[in-house]
Amino acid sequence: MSATLIDGKAFAARVRAQVAEHVTRLKADHGITPGLAVVLVGEDPASQVYVRSKGKQTTEVGMKSVEHKLDVDTSEADLLAIVDQLNKDPEIHGILVQLPLPKHLDEDLVINSIAPEKDVDGFHISNVGLLGTGQKSMVPCTPLGCLMMLRDYHGSLSGMDAVVVGRSNIVGKPMAQLLLGDSCTVTIAHSRTKDLADVVRRADIVVAAVGRPEMVPGDWIKPGATVIDVGINRLDAPEKGEGKTRLVGDVDFDSCAAVAGAITPVPGGVGPMTIACLLANTVTACCRANGLEEPE
Ligand code: NDP
Repeated sequence: MSATLIDGKAFAARVRAQVAEHVTRLKADHGITPGLAVVLVGEDPASQVYVRSKGKQTTEVGMKSVEHKLDVDTSEADLLAIVDQLNKDPEIHGILVQLPLPKHLDEDLVINSIAPEKDVDGFHISNVGLLGTGQKSMVPCTPLGCLMMLRDYHGSLSGMDAVVVGRSNIVGKPMAQLLLGDSCTVTIAHSRTKDLADVVRRADIVVAAVGRPEMVPGDWIKPGATVIDVGINRLDAPEKGEGKTRLVGDVDFDSCAAVAGAITPVPGGVGPMTIACLLANTVTACCRANGLEEPE
């Protein structure tokens, strides 16, 4: 491997330490404890893991953590009532409804019922619009974490060619907006893109958010490019024992690391940064709600 490893786990630990420091100051100077509420509907195993992890890390940085675990057949009216109650709760500064929701619930309707200033996932249509027009908003956590790692590694991203593979509302599109905001020349690729290999080969920065295990091989990567792997795919790993699994990203790590200038691993790259950014967004929301200076 010749690429520099971008250590998202270590970076996330630094972000969490800064968040914890800010929380301590908010409590000591203003008597305010930032609060994050997470709403989980149903029993999707991956979502349960994420929610547990979010709750644990929220408490660890000194914030108030509230979890609402609802039955899989919760009605839309009941879910909206809980969101409404959280919107009105002055001790809650951030609200996250864990996606995906069960099929009978309208995701757009539910997300857009969250008060935009408490929408720490940044998925509310107001925050999407603010981000798209370069105004102060809540920025989606996964792309924000990717941007922080890129800025940390490169300093300025101005003028770089960036290719984002994936155009979802939660990763691909906001990632492209953030890179554009940092003056990259941005291409968004997706399942209908022609000659994807050639498109990716142009990039100084590749962000892969596809959901297909190890899809991007090393020979698609321009020598020296920076590769950010958002993918989280669980594969069977019989070599580790019966029933065991392993996590892989959307890029083929070994072949890409042989060509890239820098690369994020899976696990230990984008994943930990996502939760750290969620905590940081909650502190930001708390400061804004109280008219206090925001963390940088
Ligand atoms: P989605 O399924 O919503 O979107 C996937 C995107 O990839 C779509 O735009 C799709 O194109 C595109 N795509 C699919 N197949 C191909 C292909 N063969 N060639 C080119 N593009 C393709 O996924 P998400 O954005 O929600 O997530 C992407 C990945 O990131 C997943 O592995 C997910 O687990 C992971 N993830 C990780 C997070 C973290 O914290 N690290 C957080 C969120 C997601 P089209 O639109 O044309 O269908």
